[in-house]
Amino acid sequence: MAEVAISVREVVRDYRRPRTALTTPGSVVHALRGVSFEVARGQRFGIVGESGCGKSTLLRIIAGLDQPTSGSVQVGGVEISRLPERRLGFLRAQLQLVFQDPMGSLDPRMRVRDIIAEPLVAQGHRDNLGRVHELLDAVGLQPEAADRFPHQFSGGQRQRISIARALAPDPRILVADEPVSALDVSVRAQVLNLLDELVQRLSLTLVFVSHDLSVVRHVCDSVAVMSRGEIVETGPIADVYDAPAHPYSRQLVAAAPRLQAALAGRTAAVLAAETLAARASSRGAAVSPAAAPAPHPETQALPQPKDAP
Ligand code: ADP
Ligand code: MG
Repeated sequence: MAEVAISVREVVRDYRRPRTALTTPGSVVHALRGVSFEVARGQRFGIVGESGCGKSTLLRIIAGLDQPTSGSVQVGGVEISRLPERRLGFLRAQLQLVFQDPMGSLDPRMRVRDIIAEPLVAQGHRDNLGRVHELLDAVGLQPEAADRFPHQFSGGQRQRISIARALAPDPRILVADEPVSALDVSVRAQVLNLLDELVQRLSLTLVFVSHDLSVVRHVCDSVAVMSRGEIVETGPIADVYDAPAHPYSRQLVAAAPRLQAALAGRTAAVLAAETLAARASSRGAAVSPAAAPAPHPETQALPQPKDAP
């Protein structure tokens, strides 16, 4: 067995809701009901499940941002579930996060160079501009991007900036929580391809969460399917995709083909035309692709790998 990067054992997380009346006790939300899995070093582990099933709660616990009600979490062999905040520095150097909404996770008042250098400054490194340019290049942005602010970029470019910041401390593990869910469908493939390439090139361990199985399939080699705070199925992604064992996994597989077309390189305009045509044909009318709406501005903004921001 390869070296274990992350080990999660019987993790339970209950949230107590505030009481709504003086006489009734607050109710408890069982966000995680005993979750166990292991991620080997270099593995690309996907976690897929519907909204509210506990995915973000699980990632926050793995990243040391929250503590389980019970159970154990080890990262690189170190038990982190009961560590005090001040001892989590080693975890920050090993494990970094990318979130869904890049606008929400990037400080709008900071220049990109300071955003990307922030984790380095926190580790005591100064004069980081060379490293910032290296990281911008790695995520397909021009060096000029360093002097701009987050609002001057498209959603896809902002997520590239988030990825650059996550890679700055040279982590061994990248944890991504719905990193492409807020992006236009045609930009998703580009950001997924970038993640895929970086994870391979830097030999990272990846934990990647999405509600969309086709997105997970694009970047992961194995997957855990979650439903209502529990893992209901886990295995190599091809097996789960081709022969889902659990009824909930079957639903996810049935919902997945939607994005495959976009990942195969079709543009938003073509996808929109196909959707219109499909709707029209289901009403018995024909619609030509010319009737499709104009592509999303982001689709036009990102045709080349290195578009200037
Ligand atoms: P997902 O990321 O899969 O959409 P979450 O982990 O965000 O799911 O949430 C799982 C469940 O826990 C949901 O029912 C959510 O409402 C609840 N929950 C999450 N965070 C909190 C919190 N801080 N306080 C109370 N309930 C929470
Ligand atoms: Mg979530």
